[in-house]
Amino acid sequence: MIRTHTCGELRAGDVGSEVVVCGWVDSVRDHGGVLFVDVRDHTGVTQTVAHPDEQPEGFAAAEAVRGEWVVAVRGRVRMRPEGTQNPDLPTGAVEVPIDAVEVLSVAEPLPIPLDERTETDEILRLRHRPLDLRKERLQRNLRTRARVSAAVRAALEAEGFVEVETPTLIRSTPEGARDYLVPSRQTPGSVYALPQSPQLFKQLLMVGGIDRYYQIARCWRDEDLRADRQPEFTQLDLEASFAEPEDVYAWIEAAMRAAFEAAGRSGELPETIPRLTWHDAMDLYGSDKPDLRAGPPIVDLAGVFAGTAFKAFAATLDAGGTVRGWRFRGGGDLTRNRLDGLIERAQHLGAKGLVWMVVEADASLRAPVAKFLSDAELAGIGAALDAEPGDLLLLAADTAQTASAVLGQLRLDLDRPAGHAPVEAGGAGVSPLWVVDFPLFEDDGAGGLTPLHHPFTSPHRDDVHLLDTDPAAVRSHAYDFVINGVEMGSGSVRIHDAAVQARMFEILGMEEAEVRSRFGFLLDAFRHGVPPHAGFAVGWDRLLMILCDERSIREVIAFPKTQTGADPLTGAPAAVGDDVLADVGLQMTPEARAVAAAEAGTEAGDSGA
Ligand code: ASP
Repeated sequence: MIRTHTCGELRAGDVGSEVVVCGWVDSVRDHGGVLFVDVRDHTGVTQTVAHPDEQPEGFAAAEAVRGEWVVAVRGRVRMRPEGTQNPDLPTGAVEVPIDAVEVLSVAEPLPIPLDERTETDEILRLRHRPLDLRKERLQRNLRTRARVSAAVRAALEAEGFVEVETPTLIRSTPEGARDYLVPSRQTPGSVYALPQSPQLFKQLLMVGGIDRYYQIARCWRDEDLRADRQPEFTQLDLEASFAEPEDVYAWIEAAMRAAFEAAGRSGELPETIPRLTWHDAMDLYGSDKPDLRAGPPIVDLAGVFAGTAFKAFAATLDAGGTVRGWRFRGGGDLTRNRLDGLIERAQHLGAKGLVWMVVEADASLRAPVAKFLSDAELAGIGAALDAEPGDLLLLAADTAQTASAVLGQLRLDLDRPAGHAPVEAGGAGVSPLWVVDFPLFEDDGAGGLTPLHHPFTSPHRDDVHLLDTDPAAVRSHAYDFVINGVEMGSGSVRIHDAAVQARMFEILGMEEAEVRSRFGFLLDAFRHGVPPHAGFAVGWDRLLMILCDERSIREVIAFPKTQTGADPLTGAPAAVGDDVLADVGLQMTPEARAVAAAEAGTEAGDSGA
């Protein structure tokens, strides 16, 4: 039997046609001696039916089939009897009387339920991922993912971008995280690394005159996993020659619009996507990835308290700190317990303290510290924070950085839609922004500097002169795209001037020899004519998570790994024999052997899953 229609396809207009539908047996129901077999594929469900007298052969076959068997059913489409039609189902007007059934394969009882209502342990779901994938939710997510990829490819190609594949066995040139290493059999003792991103290759493509490159690229980073990370992940990666940040913003925005449209969510991205400098983002939201949905920005109140008699604030201001405040609309009814909890939380986050004020019905401020403040100060706070009766005002006196960081976190704790953590960013509207002009460096915690983005990021053109005198103050041409408090992607204008690049490595404390050995191939290529270039990479799994309204990137990846980087389906990573190791010049240490033995023991004992 050859499939003529998918299971979601038949309509009243097909009545009278002889059809063959193929799929999984979704259910077998016995209604007063008549058997109803729902056959399911990714498009939907077709009801097939056998009456013992009218379809005796079909009936016998239908009696034998069980849930999740794969069958082909032949019959002539007819209307369902009046009153039994199901308007909620696209195929609900018709049914197929079973003239013949071919069993294509049988199925043992499933180890996981396929109905969406039953919560199933995630490890068990991943262990049985091929079955899990039959669920409508994952079908929908993977199909959305494919549609979004196709749409974004088309959008970028319309702008002259060319998809180029870059190698995945590369020289180890760590970009911040640890590399995954692949030992080489042909040169025992040497390793390849899996790329953390195609960064160096895409820059080399610019030297090669590709002009505009993109790729939906797999990347690997060996780091401790967080909820929104996988050891292997996908980026929409791009790079363009003779491009300014404005060009990159426009291309990424176009790609995002195409992505949202393909996911059936066009119109959700605002007409204009706001931009904030990194400094403003840190001041106003205490974060380099602000969630704009969570209440108003933080306000600096140093002006309100200039010359204050309130000792705690005066001391902070004198010491070069500041006072900042944030308004929680309608938060005035928080209990004393909650308010005490907020103070504790603020201290835990590093603040010296936290001052709260409740705006009363007559707009006066009720607060433990109110008696220490002048009327002008109280009025100033209310005006600066745009306070209304019923609001809660929170003030922190500290370094500017700490005050904003703490208030920024409380802002998320108190006012983020549905209280979602950043990773759970779906479901409450889409609020994107660009954060631009990141600092070039950050403190490496050991008295030195480390690139905030990567060492190929260009200093801001207005700050190049500071490279020699005050490198920590240099801004870069690096920019992030943020949605709902989640970093969706980042990129930068690259250094294309050999002298600036050399200075960069010098500031990073890298010896000439180290630079040569790690990046010599890039610098050599740059000596033979390199166009100015800029690029970007979008975290594809995270974007899809938001587009599919999911809470975990694992719901948008066909075969994801667990938080510990394991694949419960295939058992990766797994030990290999000593002979295999010897081939690539490796030997197991006794410690590794003990771990491998313990793992093998757990697996042997783990018969159920
Ligand atoms: N390669 C960078 C990253 O993976 C993105 C870029 O600068 O294009 O974060």
